Formats: sequence, structure tokens, C-alpha cells
Amino acid sequence: MNRRLTLIAPLGACLLATAALVAQSAAPQQAVDGAYAKFKSLQEGKNADYIPALAKVDPNLFGIALVTIDGKVYTAGDVKTEVSIQSISKVFTMAQVIQEQGLDSIEKRIGVDATGARFNSIIAVEAVKVVQGTGAPEMNPLVNPGAISATSMVKGSSSDEVWKKIIGFHNDAAGRQLNVLQDVYKSESDTNQRNQAIGALMLAYGYIKDNWQQAVDLYTRQCSIGVNAKDLATMAATLAAGGKNPVTGKQVLDNNKVPGVLAVMATAGLYDDSGKWLYHTGLPAKSGVGGGIIAVSPGKFGIAVVSPPLDDAGNSVRAQRAIADISNALGGNPYAAREKAGS
Ligand code: GLN
Repeated sequence: MNRRLTLIAPLGACLLATAALVAQSAAPQQAVDGAYAKFKSLQEGKNADYIPALAKVDPNLFGIALVTIDGKVYTAGDVKTEVSIQSISKVFTMAQVIQEQGLDSIEKRIGVDATGARFNSIIAVEAVKVVQGTGAPEMNPLVNPGAISATSMVKGSSSDEVWKKIIGFHNDAAGRQLNVLQDVYKSESDTNQRNQAIGALMLAYGYIKDNWQQAVDLYTRQCSIGVNAKDLATMAATLAAGGKNPVTGKQVLDNNKVPGVLAVMATAGLYDDSGKWLYHTGLPAKSGVGGGIIAVSPGKFGIAVVSPPLDDAGNSVRAQRAIADISNALGGNPYAAREKAGS
């Protein structure tokens, strides 16, 4: 290299680094705003109505939030209005059991395999029963039977004590005190006979050890926790940041336990559409029938969208579209090793 080039090269590198820094701060907001504009008027899907309170939620509600692993927050739309967290809570109760009792506990009692069935399938429970005793059951904690079983595994001498741990873990991941939406809790408690049947069946087959009624009640309560898009994105970012809430700095889940949690999200987070979702985004994610979806780009960012209308698999239509759009714009797919994240 001649003398002139040796002088120019470091200058070039410096300019490039500065440009990268500028791009880093601008790109996530652009991506979030772009997806909001693109999908704001998309009207596909329908609110869940098997829980009467969910049918009453405003279908136009649309909020996007992205939180980076260094705690920067980017939002568009309504990120303040709360919806019920629903099945997204399954991730955090599973994580809590793993934190308390290790990765093996969930694998042995419930399993970490996709069922390929709907989230509240009873046939899936029957299908698993035959393999019990021959190895890990072929089920997972992100479908209702596995989730009710995971809730039953949280240790505590009373329902109150277990609940305090469950809500406490959710609070830590969100970085604020969350509350149960009482109208949703009541509405689902009045109409959750199917989940009660699942709870009783799970006890009969040994996936729940005792008191299935308490497990179903606490599961119903955890599904009724109120969250907004920003809470959900912070929860997702906690998983993206190795279990440490990047906004509060609190280590919620041990770093070495996070990959197991993300693996179950990747295989089963969007139920029987999980494969399709992973094919297009590569992101571990979890949906809830309240209209929220969280997705995790490990080591980069967590993202969440709230939009109540769902597709046939029970996943928010706009949330899927917006998250895929933003993540792909920012190079969030963990399988695309050459891309750089915008965070
Ligand atoms: N509470 C809901 C139920 O048990 C959760 C389902 C979901 O969000 N997919 O049916």
C-alpha cells in the first residue's frame, strides 16, 4: 500500500463507521413507520369471539413497538391501549418454570415438540398419551394443554403464592407492574369449559399432578393480563437480550436458558402455522388471541404488534404482516447470517 492509501484507508473506515451509526438510529424508526403506513388499512381477519370480551375489542387498534437489546424503543400507532396478553403469557410461564426447575423439567413433563394441531386441540392430548413413559411427550407448553400443565408446575403453597410468582415474572419482563383485565378474566372464566376439560384430562394422564382446577384458573388469569404493544416488545427484547430486560437492566431469566425458550417459540409459537411463519421470518415468536404477537431477533431486538383481527389459525393478520416486514427490512432473520440488523 502506498503512503497516500495508508492515510486514506483509516479515514474511509471512520466515515463508514459513522454512516453505519447514523443508519443504525434511523433505520428501525423508518421500518416501524413504513410497516404502520403499509398495513394500517388492511382489514383482513376477525376478532376472536369464543371469549365474549374479546369480540368487543376495537378491531382498528393497531400498535407497533420495537425494543433493541440496548433498550432503545421505536413505536408507531397506538402503543398505550391494553389488550389481554392471552397465549403470549405461555412463553413467560414456561420460562419461569425453566428458570425455577431447569430446562429438563418442561421437556420431561410436557415435551418440546409441535403438535401440528390447533391450540386447544383435545385430540392432540389423546395422541400424546400413547407415548408417555417411552420418552418425552410430543407436546409443548405453548398449546393450551401444555400451558395449563406448565402453570401447574409453578411452585407455591397457595394459589395466591403461585399467582404472585407468575405476575411477578411477567412484570419483570415488561419492566412495569401489569394488571389483570377483570372483564376478560370473568368472560373467559365463564366460558372456559373446554380448557377445564383439558385440565381434567391432563390430570388423568399425569401431565398435571394435582389440583387441575387451580391450574386452569391461574392459566385463565395469566391470559387476562393487560399489556400494550410496548410492554410486549420489552418482553420480547428481554428474550432477545439473553434474559436481561434491556430497559430496566434486570436479569429475568438466565442467559443459558433463553435458547430453549426461543426454540419452543420457533417450533410452536404460531401453532399449526409456525412452520410457515419461520419460513418467512426465521423469528421465534408467539401469538395470542387478544391480537398481540411478539417476535425475537436474538442479540438484536424484540418486536411486538397489537391488532385484534385474527386469521383461521388464531394469529393476528396485521401483526404477522407488520413484524415480517420490519424484521426483514432490518435483517432480523437469524438464519440470514450476512445481513446486519438495523439496531
Ligand atoms: N386464553 C386463551 C384460551 O385458552 C388463549 C388462547 C390463545 O391465545 N391462543 O383459549
